[in-house]
Amino acid sequence: MTSKAPIREVGSARPSHLMFTGGIGAIIDLPNVAALVGGLEDWEPHYRDDNRAVIEPRLLAETRRRLGRSVRELRLVPLSDEDERSAVGVPVQPFPAWLRCTKCNRLNSLHSKFFTYVNSKRGRPDLARFVHRNCGGKTTAKAVPARFLLACRSGHLDEFPYEWFVHKGGSCPKAEHPHLRMDDRAGNRAVNVRIKCESCSAERNLREAMGAAGRDHLPACRGRHPHLRTPANCREELQPLIVGASNLWFPQTVSVLSVPPDDTDRLKGLVAEHAESLQIVENFTAEQIAGLMRSLPELKPFREFDAADLRAAMDAHTPTPSAGNEIPDLLEPEWKAFTAARLPEDAYFTAVREPGGVPARLRPYFTDVVRAERLREVRAFHGFTRLDAPDPEQPDLVPTAPISRGEPTWAPASEVFGEGIFLRIDADALSTWESRIESTPAVQRLRSAWATFRTKRYSGRLQAEFDPSAGWPGAGYVVLHTLSHLLIRTIALECGYNSASLAERIYSNGDDRAGILIYTAVPDAEGTLGGLVSLAEPDRLTRIVRRALTDAQRCSGDPVCADHLPAEPSDSLHGAACHSCLFVSETTCERGNRFLDRRFTVDLGDGLSFFTPWD
Ligand SMILES: [Zn+2]
Ligand SMILES: [Zn+2]
Ligand SMILES: [Zn+2]
Ligand SMILES: [Zn+2]
Ligand SMILES: [Zn+2]
Repeated sequence: MTSKAPIREVGSARPSHLMFTGGIGAIIDLPNVAALVGGLEDWEPHYRDDNRAVIEPRLLAETRRRLGRSVRELRLVPLSDEDERSAVGVPVQPFPAWLRCTKCNRLNSLHSKFFTYVNSKRGRPDLARFVHRNCGGKTTAKAVPARFLLACRSGHLDEFPYEWFVHKGGSCPKAEHPHLRMDDRAGNRAVNVRIKCESCSAERNLREAMGAAGRDHLPACRGRHPHLRTPANCREELQPLIVGASNLWFPQTVSVLSVPPDDTDRLKGLVAEHAESLQIVENFTAEQIAGLMRSLPELKPFREFDAADLRAAMDAHTPTPSAGNEIPDLLEPEWKAFTAARLPEDAYFTAVREPGGVPARLRPYFTDVVRAERLREVRAFHGFTRLDAPDPEQPDLVPTAPISRGEPTWAPASEVFGEGIFLRIDADALSTWESRIESTPAVQRLRSAWATFRTKRYSGRLQAEFDPSAGWPGAGYVVLHTLSHLLIRTIALECGYNSASLAERIYSNGDDRAGILIYTAVPDAEGTLGGLVSLAEPDRLTRIVRRALTDAQRCSGDPVCADHLPAEPSDSLHGAACHSCLFVSETTCERGNRFLDRRFTVDLGDGLSFFTPWD
């Protein structure tokens, strides 16, 4: 890792984490140093190579919608260890810059004369650290980051103002550069960390900065984005945080599978692209256009299409797209690809319908089984939030912090190849089931838990137009999602996959769309050799589904697990589900292990299951 002087290498971080756990604006907690990952401008010297551009028009369009039209491309961040060795660094700076001597508790900025940066061994960034020389007049002692920070809900981050705080909002009456000490008695637990000023004997416990009362003891936000080193205007309330806290950084990423566009989407794209030259036929009818199709050069790109389709696409075309804040349905093209009568194919997408068809025993539920032999998933990083996770239902609710000082011209992206198995569920059967159980207490509890969860989470910034129940995915989603987890766990057990190397996509819109894709989506997945697609074969699929649904009848956490439904004050958003029966790793689940309930997939005694018991 590299950064500006004085620090060159301060430790190593796996670049694969850059998108998910330690991207722009995140603090990487290294053994001896805490480091903040810089914004795009800091990355640019390392990422100028054009070969790093990844072409994925759908994702680029979505990125431009979110980050602005200045974005011209998506660029790959290094994902493998091999790349890491090729001297491609992650630009970081030490942050927080306040250090505490582990021996004498001296508290000072690392820029002060008290602390020295030591990194004697080249190539051993893990040994980089700060020391207090002449500690107590004789020894050299290690200095560690003072772990307190302040953040506001707009994503700003600031140093904890120790000097200001210990002097109760003023400055030291005795010294211009007062001697501070941090007496950290509770191992970083804020409840017992005392700040002392040895120059004037002022003393204050950090406890006073915590909680609701603490807000009166902290300054207002100064609008700092230290990863960009630019000030902004902000007067929001600040909240104390500790390095390593889970709400310090939430990545905002979006992923798509590369699928060939279907004819309608392709035509739509062409109309947008040639909008100007099409003006020549703007007022023509479909018949008139049909008559000119062969002769008019402006219509050349459209000759393979039907004139009526072209007329319709022209009518639907709006010259200035994204006028509203409408979130595009990124799953629709994927759903269309997997369910097309003739499966499309290109360099990034190869899928075939299972020749054995849907196994007889599964026909009441499944209508199609597709082997996805080659898939590409591209993920783009759009920014991050602090204190609250981004809300996919209302993206403007939690402001996303910028990733660059100027208008971004690119966005970091990752690309992985894999394979998968796509199961289409009978949408009619699912909606019949849904209407049967819609008004049961179990569904009502899950639905109201979602509204409560959102209200609580955003209590600090509730707006008039806040709709607490927005985004409730529906009981149908819960069935598909639960089945997906059951299958992932079974596949991991039966086939020896690491379940963390599998990913899921749930296609559900409460209407005609009902399907599950389970796929491999990690750079070094074992599942790239046809192992996963071979599970589509009728006998194997029957066995896996049978085992998944049989295992789901019991959990070592029963009866507590089986009876569980969300209830206040708990924040849970799942029914009968726990680590023993349904949860999977964070990288595998698309919804953070929420919206899961075994009682919708197997009969736990209340007759709510979509599937009938296996004999
Ligand atoms: Zn010391
Ligand atoms: Zn003082
Ligand atoms: Zn702020
Ligand atoms: Zn359980
Ligand atoms: Zn999941």
